[in-house]
Amino acid sequence: MTITEKTSYLKGLLEGMNIDQTTNEGKLLAAIIDTLDEIALSVADLEGEVGAINDELDSVEESLDAFDEELSDIEEALDAIDEDLDAVDEDLDEIRDELDLDEEDWDEWDEEEDEDDDEDLYQLTCPTCKEEIVVDEDVLAKGGMKCPACGEDLDFDLSQVIDDLSEPEEDDD
Ligand SMILES: [Zn+2]
Repeated sequence: MTITEKTSYLKGLLEGMNIDQTTNEGKLLAAIIDTLDEIALSVADLEGEVGAINDELDSVEESLDAFDEELSDIEEALDAIDEDLDAVDEDLDEIRDELDLDEEDWDEWDEEEDEDDDEDLYQLTCPTCKEEIVVDEDVLAKGGMKCPACGEDLDFDLSQVIDDLSEPEEDDD
C-alpha cells in the first residue's frame, strides 16, 4: 500500500465509522486526515521528481563513462603518435648521419671530376664586362650563373647548346 492509498483508507474509515464531524474531536480527526492526505500527495509528487532526477543522473553518468572511454582512446592515439614521432626522429638522425657521409663522398667525387680532362667545357663571353668564362655542362644545365668578374646575372641560351649536352634538359620558357 502506498502512502496515498493509506490516507485514502483513513478517509474511508472516518466515513465508515459514522464519527460525528460536528464535534470537536470529529473536526480534529477530519482535519488531521485531510492534512495527512495533502502531505501524502506532496510526498508522492516529490518521489516522482526524485525518480526523474535519478534517471537523469544515470544518463549523465553513462555519458561521463563514454566520455572517459573516448579520452582513454585519444590518450592511446596520442601515445601512438608520440612513438611514431620518436621513430621518425630516429630515422631523421640516421638520414642525417648518412647525408654527412654522402656529402664527403660527393666532395671526393667532385675532386675527381675536377681532375677529369674528358669533361665537356663551354666558353662564354659576359655581355657586360666581356670576360671570357669557361663553364662545364653541369653549370650550363642550371641555365644561368653570376659572372665571376662583374657579378652580372647571366642567362644561358640553352636552345643553342642543348645538342651539346649529354643529358637533354627541359627548356623552361
Ligand atoms: Zn661580366
